[in-house]
Amino acid sequence: MSDTLPVPADTPFVRGHTARLPTRHGDFSITSYRDAQLQVEHVVMHVGDVAGEAVLMRIHSECLTGDIFGSLRCDCGPQLELALQRIALAGRGLLIYMRGHEGRGIGITEKLKAYTLQDQGLDTVDANLALGHAADLRRFDAAAFILQDMGVRSVRLLSNNPLKVLALEELGIVVQARQPHEVPSNPENAGYLRTKRDRMGHWLG
Ligand SMILES: [Zn+2]
Repeated sequence: MSDTLPVPADTPFVRGHTARLPTRHGDFSITSYRDAQLQVEHVVMHVGDVAGEAVLMRIHSECLTGDIFGSLRCDCGPQLELALQRIALAGRGLLIYMRGHEGRGIGITEKLKAYTLQDQGLDTVDANLALGHAADLRRFDAAAFILQDMGVRSVRLLSNNPLKVLALEELGIVVQARQPHEVPSNPENAGYLRTKRDRMGHWLG
């Protein structure tokens, strides 16, 4: 990380800076947060005054291949775009972009190894397990800090993932409602989505 925000040893998370960020989805503000545990900087894309109740929110886990390169192996890219569109349309809400969540927390090299295993027939869960990783290593402590820092008291979560709801509630975040966030599948990610539904409990059609 080239930026060197001073991080006191006893403070895992520190707010960085906020700037205006007009996008093709609408006008956002973007705020950075330093995470000393993961040694990354997360960013929040937000619209309107998000302090208060029932704020529309998505937590998006970084996915270089899906978010940047248009990978068809997962549904991350279209989910990210849809979330930004929905938040912009609502005129109030936020998207927390969690860095260090690549491949459900295993990192890009291990994720690429998992892709090779998937091409040999393993599903996404078994591929991670075969590489010696837990099925999901992601932590959401930073998200809890960010919401508290922004004054968000309860959220309407854009997610198909029941574990994410539980993880947030365990961190003290009030999930007032969950709103389905499904994007169309393609032949390349049909198996990935089936695994999410059948083995990770996602609510998917
Ligand atoms: Zn992805």
